[in-house]
Amino acid sequence: MNTAVATPLSAADRCDRCGAQAYIRVSLPTGGELLFCAHHGREHESKLREVAIEIQDETDRLGRIKAAEDN
Ligand SMILES: [Zn+2]
Repeated sequence: MNTAVATPLSAADRCDRCGAQAYIRVSLPTGGELLFCAHHGREHESKLREVAIEIQDETDRLGRIKAAEDN
């Protein structure tokens, strides 16, 4: 049994759909994982919730960055 320690997503993690920086990591029962940007994570969220064993959502981090940029 491996201890699942959530590794924070980094700038090197890219959305599987568009290549933007990933803020959502979806763990699959097969042991694989999918990475999505905030946009595509939201777009596929309902489907992902059906298949994922875990969804790591760091889009709040994106919100904080955006808020800082808006200032
Ligand atoms: Zn994307």
